[in-house]
Amino acid sequence: MSLSKARDVEVLEGEWECMDCGYIEEGPSNRRPKRCPECNAPGSVFEFFEYEDEDWNDDDDFEEYEDFDDDFDDDYDYDDDE
Ligand SMILES: [Zn+2]
Repeated sequence: MSLSKARDVEVLEGEWECMDCGYIEEGPSNRRPKRCPECNAPGSVFEFFEYEDEDWNDDDDFEEYEDFDDDFDDDYDYDDDE
């Protein structure tokens, strides 16, 4: 990448969301859409959301939930025994 000229401007990868209709356009933070192709709103209604990496992925949480389910089953069986 040779962006020597725009070096002081940080360009983030992410997506622009139309605050009027929810339309999402992926693109860098320095390229605000001119207008929304969905509802024709001006570019000023777009808000930029930076991409998050792995942190945003909650696959790990899912596994924890499965473990929790197992514990719950055990408790239930125990109660049934009485
Ligand atoms: Zn829109």
